[in-house]
Amino acid sequence: MFSIFTSIVIWALLGSLIAWWLGPLIGLALFCGGLLLLLVISTLQLSRVERWTRNLNDPPPPAVGPWDAILAPIYRQLRRDRQEIQDLNRYVDGIMMAAEALPDGAITLNGDMELQWCNQTACEHIGLNLATDRHHSIFNILREPEFSRYARQPQWDGPLMLHLNKDGRERSLLLQLTPYGLGQFLIVTRDVTQVEMLETTRKDFVANVSHELRTPLTVLLGFLETLQDMPADSLPLEQRQRYEQMMLEQTRHMQSIVSDLLTLSTLESSPTVEGDVVQVSQLIESALKQGEAISGGQHSFVTDIDPRIAIQGMETELSSAVSNLITNAVRYTPKDGTITVRWYLNDNGEACYSVQDTGIGIAAQDIPRLTERFYRVDKGRSRSTGGTGLGLAITKHIIVRHNADLQIQSRLGVGSVFMLRFPKSRVRLQDS
Ligand code: ADP
Repeated sequence: MFSIFTSIVIWALLGSLIAWWLGPLIGLALFCGGLLLLLVISTLQLSRVERWTRNLNDPPPPAVGPWDAILAPIYRQLRRDRQEIQDLNRYVDGIMMAAEALPDGAITLNGDMELQWCNQTACEHIGLNLATDRHHSIFNILREPEFSRYARQPQWDGPLMLHLNKDGRERSLLLQLTPYGLGQFLIVTRDVTQVEMLETTRKDFVANVSHELRTPLTVLLGFLETLQDMPADSLPLEQRQRYEQMMLEQTRHMQSIVSDLLTLSTLESSPTVEGDVVQVSQLIESALKQGEAISGGQHSFVTDIDPRIAIQGMETELSSAVSNLITNAVRYTPKDGTITVRWYLNDNGEACYSVQDTGIGIAAQDIPRLTERFYRVDKGRSRSTGGTGLGLAITKHIIVRHNADLQIQSRLGVGSVFMLRFPKSRVRLQDS
């Protein structure tokens, strides 16, 4: 402003000087010409300023006369604001990314309990779709009576356990509602399906162990009470010996259960095992001898064993897995059946141990459950042959620790094939 004013004064002085010297008309003409020039320059500067306002990100145009002093602080302030907005955006992005990375689901609701925002985990937990569900009441989205009751409480002291069935999949969710900010609400969801399953397994396991031990203990107690109540010499020797034999059997059965449980808990302590080179063919030979002894000549044994194949692993564990399959084959194959044991390399270089029998076989629906603890297709048959129902669970653990797998094929009344397959990385070929 100052420079425009100065220019006008200068032109006025110049005009007055010329008017005094060359006449008033020429002085006035010079003054008017100066003003016109000033107007043209100002218009040009203003149009450059106006062009700059269309893109405020660029620095203001240079040399725009009086506008220089006005535009410089405006531009500085603009830059400061831009920086602040950028920082704020980065901060908000950081918070949003942290909320997305949460292992729990997070949902924000407004005062009317309408969905405002949720992270991906919450979408998966509850089946929300932010694009379509935003601004809809949570009661219309999550139509569970338990949730409605919980959410309509005046305050929420604890979480709600919600069992949802989504796409045929059961899910257990722990859901906590909390008020925050100015009348808004936050819902945090946590998937506890796995935890619940573990807890159920633990309870089932304790119940199973108690049940398994209760039967022999009851038998034992019965005999002991009978013996105690009877006068010393009133029981014939033969009957006393029979009682003692039965008590011995029950005690041995309990001992087997406890010993198998201890084995299982040891196996569970580490997921894999390195071990040494184990001559599996020797383990198979001694397991076969044991199987033949149990069979008492009632079964035929066919073998096809490659002695060159050794395995990197734990000898005691491999021995247990190898003999368990042979013992089972003998126990679940009636008299005159055939048991075929093979140890060979397949086309992929994997070592396979297979035990095939012509026994009672297993129904298709039972096969996936055989490696569960205490799962037995026929409890009576298993018990009468000294089974604990833990043999295949132990075998499965051993196999997993050796990075191998267990395959079971069976047909009811025809027979079964149990196969352990060890990966190539575990195979050590020995000179014949
Ligand atoms: P158990 O001590 O009862 O034999 P296992 O864990 O070794 O326990 O086996 C679980 C169940 O699998 C057995 O009770 C039996 O029903 C079934 N099973 C195992 N091996 C065979 C087999 N070779 N033929 C038929 N059924 C079998």
